Amino acid sequence: MAAYIKQDKQQLNVPDQPIIPYIVGDGIGPEIWAAAQPVFDAAITKAYGQKRGVEWQEVLAGEKAYDQTGEWLPEATVKALEKALIGIKGPLTTPIGKGHRSINVTLRQKFDLYACVRPIHYFVGTPTPIRHPEKVEMTVFRENTEDIYAGIEYKNDAAQSLMQVLETTGQLSKVRFPDDSNYAIKPISKTGSQRFIASAIDYAIAHNRHKVTLVHKGNIMKYTEGAFKQWGYDIAAANYQDQVFTQPEYDAIKATDGPAAAEKALESARQHHKIIIDDIITDNFFQQALINPTNFDVVATCNLNGDYISDALAAQVGGIGIAPSANINYHTGQAIFEATHGTAPQFVGQNKLNPSSILLSGAMMFDYLGWTEVSDLIHEAISQAIKQKQVTWDFAQEIDGATELSTSEFGKYLENLI
Ligand code: NAD
Repeated sequence: MAAYIKQDKQQLNVPDQPIIPYIVGDGIGPEIWAAAQPVFDAAITKAYGQKRGVEWQEVLAGEKAYDQTGEWLPEATVKALEKALIGIKGPLTTPIGKGHRSINVTLRQKFDLYACVRPIHYFVGTPTPIRHPEKVEMTVFRENTEDIYAGIEYKNDAAQSLMQVLETTGQLSKVRFPDDSNYAIKPISKTGSQRFIASAIDYAIAHNRHKVTLVHKGNIMKYTEGAFKQWGYDIAAANYQDQVFTQPEYDAIKATDGPAAAEKALESARQHHKIIIDDIITDNFFQQALINPTNFDVVATCNLNGDYISDALAAQVGGIGIAPSANINYHTGQAIFEATHGTAPQFVGQNKLNPSSILLSGAMMFDYLGWTEVSDLIHEAISQAIKQKQVTWDFAQEIDGATELSTSEFGKYLENLI
């Protein structure tokens, strides 16, 4: 019998027939969802026969919700997602007009989905602008609730009290043109940073990864991004002492016993499968990710850096048509899996674009539920289809000798491969 997924004592309790709400989304959302859902079902049946199956429950958001209920995000949808703990969604249009916030951002904030998780994986044969995309194998953890994204901005004429505070604390002289500047505030907290970085370390441990790199601009923003890095090292030392080896540990050994001893300690940590935790300044990360991508594994970073980094890395392995994403609160278990791309309005109704982003987001969801066999089958089918050059328009244009399939034909092709 269908039942809800629950979280007990930080452990997900997944019934064999879980109820999972889905939002088809706007624009190309209905087309990619229609192609993806049968692939999910085929993979579950292949993995578990009739023993397991998802009861998909449609919930409304975006234009479809607005047309039917007059609300962009009806309360019933929020309640259904809360009850089911897990949900999956297509892209949603950000309503244009005064007072409308992005529905995606609203959902992330309502459920405090503090970790945005984006795996970056290259499928052989995918068109890409770089020579060795197979070396790019990372999972980006982007903090999802803080930073400049908190949306605290002041237009100059509304910033008088803020400017007074700056004046009395002697900071106003640092503003080059105070009289016509607008201002934004960048909150980054110890609590928010540590729960987030701990989740990235937990993920690395659970997925047998070898490294977590904290990416930050702490050289310039000492009390926000610099503190993010330091709080990360602090929580690693406090809670994961036996499981990690950190850059500050390496530096301390180097300072007292010399570089050879530090290298030896690092090698020993690797042999004992400890997670190496280090950090890098964001601008250097961008160049190293292109030049030496194998230096990175799990990458944990603040909100704005994570936004740029995840799109840049996605482009290295084939672009947003194939990039999956999840928004997760690891404490409550609440999670929403979603296509990374938007609604692609100019392609609506053409049955042309790639459903791989939502498919791989679904694969992440099954992985999160512990149904890893389903996730593997989806990955394998996409991998085979690309190798066989059976792809949608976006890839077909770039691959010599490719067969161009429509969105729905690509979905059917994957079902047959499963
Ligand atoms: P977009 O991602 O919708 O489209 C940009 C381009 O990316 C497209 O023109 C297309 O070339 C490519 N693309 C997108 N999806 C693809 C797919 N599945 N396969 C292959 N190529 C694909 O970005 P946009 O045009 O800037 O935004 C359109 C709308 O989407 C806006 O309303 C925006 O707010 C919204 N949006 C929503 C989300 C979300 O729901 N998570 C994310 C981004 C943008």
